[in-house]
Amino acid sequence: MIETSNSFQMVVSQIDAACEKLSVKEAWRLRLENCERELTVHFPVKMDDGTVKVFTGFRIVHNDTRGPAKGGLRYHPDVTLDKTRALAALMTLKTAVVNIPYGGAKGAVICDPQTLSLSELERLTRRYTAEITILLGPESNIPAPDVGTNPQVMAWIMDTYSMSKGYPVLGVVTGKPIVIGGSRGRLEATGHGCMINARLAAKHLGIVLNGATVAVQGFGNVGSAVARLLEARESCKIIAISDIKGGIYNENRLDVGAVFSYSQQTGSVVDFKDGENITNAELLALPCDILIPAAIENQIVKANAANIKARIIVEGANAPTTPEADKILNDNGVFVVPDILANAGGVIVSYFEWVQGLQAFFWSEDEVNHQLQVIMDNAFGEVLEMSQSEKVDMRNAAYMLAVKRVADAMETRGIFP
Ligand code: NAD
Repeated sequence: MIETSNSFQMVVSQIDAACEKLSVKEAWRLRLENCERELTVHFPVKMDDGTVKVFTGFRIVHNDTRGPAKGGLRYHPDVTLDKTRALAALMTLKTAVVNIPYGGAKGAVICDPQTLSLSELERLTRRYTAEITILLGPESNIPAPDVGTNPQVMAWIMDTYSMSKGYPVLGVVTGKPIVIGGSRGRLEATGHGCMINARLAAKHLGIVLNGATVAVQGFGNVGSAVARLLEARESCKIIAISDIKGGIYNENRLDVGAVFSYSQQTGSVVDFKDGENITNAELLALPCDILIPAAIENQIVKANAANIKARIIVEGANAPTTPEADKILNDNGVFVVPDILANAGGVIVSYFEWVQGLQAFFWSEDEVNHQLQVIMDNAFGEVLEMSQSEKVDMRNAAYMLAVKRVADAMETRGIFP
């Protein structure tokens, strides 16, 4: 096996555990322990001041046995090849656990988008797209937004790829603006999926959501949507919200719309007038019914897992919890809806966007949300059933369901030649 550092190894160890329980053939386990394709690119970008900088990016396909490789594009200064591998593997598992016909991929560029002007961001995106074009295509490899990227970045990718083909290719990327073939409901889809999972978990545990207290770490695409939806649709009390600069807390409730407007104006939730400033670490340890980590990976670790007082964790972020922390949460009776299930709403509506683009026939928002609900209900039910029948936690159950689907597909396709 290739040498890996922590993040990818963490996912692999969980895949291995699922393979062990399911007695998966050695050949399929070995394939899941490695990424199928890894492209690293170092590319120049002209900066606004006339200088040229060289950026490094990746596009990784973990496994495409079940369909085209699907996965987001991250712009972040701390991203590495290893983290991108881990995120690609999570996509293979995520698309399998919710049973949509995709494999898993991920892309990343090491950069801090906050420090780039809009035109620098556009040139960086277009050049990165050109560099990885050999992998891209609606039938093969389809990016979407992730941390640090958004619908505008997806529009530039679609345009750059389409220019190389000579005609518009809607299906090459998802999470696009609606005017160029984006799907209704995609922008808030990941948060929407988290809300559905919170609702299903609460129902399973007999917790009433009306008035339930919620803390949300991360207030970007995912965190802001899930906070808004839980407040508006389920009458939850959002008592804490944070971002990279820190958090705010109000034991009665925060007004999510007001926090959103404030953070849009000031660049952070910190110092919001109706809240008390807290740290991200304090937010994670607050007494609440539901905790939603929706920022980045490795936030709930061995050192702080025992401090967590939430009854339910819905993992909006990818890989926010380490395996050591998971064990502690489990021992303490915290019900964890794992990332590959909890945040799959984004890739599910991306799938709808891709289908709509290929058919050139677009759905109403109600239709999108209804189909999302159907897939999520089903996936949550299947994971819960696996968890109960195999007497494992929800994460191991989700991994088992996903690994079984990918292993069955590999067995059925066989090995070429
Ligand atoms: P985003 O860039 O829109 O927002 C990220 C938020 O997290 C921001 O508020 C940022 O300030 C905060 N943050 C970043 N680093 C932090 C830190 N160290 N401590 C506390 N807060 C921090 O990103 P997003 O699209 O909302 O993604 C958030 C998470 O959800 C990521 O793990 C991503 O992989 C996952 N995810 C996103 C989608 C999607 O559709 N966007 C889908 C599935 C999973």
